Amino acid sequence: MRIVATRKIDELGRIMLTKELRETMNWKTGDSLNLTCTKEGVLLSSPQQACILCGGSNDLLTLNEKPICRQCIQAIQHL
Ligand SMILES: [Zn+2]
Repeated sequence: MRIVATRKIDELGRIMLTKELRETMNWKTGDSLNLTCTKEGVLLSSPQQACILCGGSNDLLTLNEKPICRQCIQAIQHL
């Protein structure tokens, strides 16, 4: 993994993300980010849409403005 910046944590526990990094990642003020603990450290990532039933992210459709995967739709149809 490539280190793109080194930042100090301030007294409130915050770190500043550079403008260049935010623009590269298309992160805007007010966006939510996922923080995931990995073996290498903490990974920042954009939340991805996930199926409201199984949490999967493949083959998502929208039902009543909620993401749901095609597999779950098929499973519901067979109830
Ligand atoms: Zn699903």
